[in-house]
Amino acid sequence: MSKLNCQIFDSMGDTELKKYLHSKLKSCKIRVISNELSLKTIDSKAEVLGVFVDSEVDKKVLDKMPKLKLIATMSTGYDHIDLEECKKRNITVCNVPNYGENTVAEHTMALILSLSRKIYPSIKRVKEGHYDFVGLRGFDLKGKAIGIVGTGSIGIHLITMLKCFETKVIAYDVKPNKATAKKYGFTYVSFDKLLSRSDIISFHVPLFPSTHHMINKKNIKKIKKGAYLINTARGGLIEAEALAKGLKSGQIAGAGLDVLEEEELLQNPKKILYTEKKDRDGLLKTNQMNKFIVDHPNTIITPHNAFNSTEALKRIIDITAENIIAYSKGSVQNIVN
Ligand code: NAD
Repeated sequence: MSKLNCQIFDSMGDTELKKYLHSKLKSCKIRVISNELSLKTIDSKAEVLGVFVDSEVDKKVLDKMPKLKLIATMSTGYDHIDLEECKKRNITVCNVPNYGENTVAEHTMALILSLSRKIYPSIKRVKEGHYDFVGLRGFDLKGKAIGIVGTGSIGIHLITMLKCFETKVIAYDVKPNKATAKKYGFTYVSFDKLLSRSDIISFHVPLFPSTHHMINKKNIKKIKKGAYLINTARGGLIEAEALAKGLKSGQIAGAGLDVLEEEELLQNPKKILYTEKKDRDGLLKTNQMNKFIVDHPNTIITPHNAFNSTEALKRIIDITAENIIAYSKGSVQNIVN
């Protein structure tokens, strides 16, 4: 039996990771490119494609890969892959569910605590040589209402941590699970109630058409004045313009974000050159809003790094390799389409 031909785009460019991938996929013919996917480096003969979330797999990419049978995304989210086009071409798409519930929840908790105790400006001040606490007063989490949007793996893991801080947790999910709420000690409310009652709102839902701009220019006014927004899920959940305006007016006191709408442009400004003309103005406007958000004194932004722990990456590679090997043996697992 001939070996499956796999092309993997490892944008981490990490030598150890590359070695680990090779060791796990000895039964396949694999080529690892230490970069994100580009049309120039695609192997048209590849049957399996492995990507991280920064590699967009759209129609143009699929057109160049006529032999493609499987896309193994090394992530939980799969909004960077055109599932409709994959379906038309009989390409199976699988993901890595649950590799990082604690990893992403821990990062989220770090963002919440950094905001509540002004950790970033405090450290910056001392490093700059000023040992002085004036203007650095924070607030306690104990007793605060925390709204969790999405009570899947990450949301629930975060809730268990938040309960240790004696916070009052309320949640919204399209599929509420009463038994889970009872077990972890929180209450489900409508999305509008969550917005109006929470002191801190944290997002843990996938980016779907139904969740795109869950926070937008209209409903941002429904958020309790002076609340904080946390987003470690996907940038497109929060409209950048709405958040920028909310921060400017003081409706939103601050934000802790690991993801931003159209963050690809912050990563690589040249992307604007490959954007269709009709979409350029919108993209540039979002980019301007992102710059305002990044520069705002009450925001802390990390570069889509919540997943990036040694342990989580090992789990990602292990499950991706299992997905590919299962496929090579005629079975499939973790399918998303
Ligand atoms: P999950 O599938 O376990 O949970 C998602 C939850 O969202 C489910 O309970 C689901 O019912 C709910 N949901 C779906 N659509 C909804 C809607 N329209 N309204 C309300 N709730 C809705 O996913 P997870 O493992 O908890 O991950 C959540 C998201 O976190 C992922 O989809 C991914 O985009 C993101 N993520 C980010 C990073 C990072 O590095 N920043 C890493 C991993 C995952």
